[in-house]
Amino acid sequence: MAEHLIENYLIDMDGVLVHEEHPIPGADAFLAGIGEAGLGFLVLTNNSIYTARDLSARLAGAGLTIPPERIWTSALATALFLHTQRPRGSAYVVGEAGLTTALHDIGYVLSDRSPDYVVLGETRTYSFEAITKAVRLVRDGARFIATNPDPTGPSVEGLLPATGAVAAMITRATGVTPYFVGKPNPLMMRSALNTLSAHSETTVVIGDRMDTDVVAGLEAGMDTVLVLSGITSITDVDRFPYRPTAIVDSIAQLPVGRDVRTLDSMPTAAVRPAPAGAPDRTGTHGRSPGPVHTSGSTTRG
Ligand SMILES: [Mg+2]
Repeated sequence: MAEHLIENYLIDMDGVLVHEEHPIPGADAFLAGIGEAGLGFLVLTNNSIYTARDLSARLAGAGLTIPPERIWTSALATALFLHTQRPRGSAYVVGEAGLTTALHDIGYVLSDRSPDYVVLGETRTYSFEAITKAVRLVRDGARFIATNPDPTGPSVEGLLPATGAVAAMITRATGVTPYFVGKPNPLMMRSALNTLSAHSETTVVIGDRMDTDVVAGLEAGMDTVLVLSGITSITDVDRFPYRPTAIVDSIAQLPVGRDVRTLDSMPTAAVRPAPAGAPDRTGTHGRSPGPVHTSGSTTRG
């Protein structure tokens, strides 16, 4: 069998590197190991609230040094998607700086007058007025895009309705379903690969969710590693019609640069209960904290 060299990693952020503001043990060492080995990586998140610079600063607060150019958000993926589809177009945006900045940066005009697109992202301040405007524009023919399909997101106080839930409201009022760019759409993985100038055969996805990270990595042709430090416990894994290439308790158990197909990790993980603290109700952005469902339950664009 040909040697399978790893050159790059796509690493999900919440549940893999951090839980909210707290670093997951081993995350810093893993990132340092990537640097020492001269390999590439991008940190992925469906969170569209923050810019890459904001997220870099927040990760620094958690003790993780990750430069902005190493962070790939659903807002950046959405902006790149729109740029390739319709360069220098116009959009009415319901979202935060992470999304509006990304669209500005690729030359989009933000407008509520016959925009090419209505683009919905995550905010904590959804206004009825903005949603009404979005509904009217979509009914008038604007194409409907959303950064990610996650129905709920975490907060310290409990779950919050997220982009997918607000998208459903607009869909109900318009009869139009958005195209979701973020995970589990493999487009998010492919655009990350392009940004890294990486190839799927030599890139590994590391994530804590079967129905987003693992399925998107699989569909984009990559090997995948499921970590049990986030929302998924080992007992959930068998319910899915697909498997990750390897399962490890956390990123601390993952040797940098090692072909994940050679990792003898599944039997170890299979006999262990979920790690303390899992299933995690706060460590993943924008995901339902309920039982993990099969990928078929996820809204797909
Ligand atoms: Mg995650």
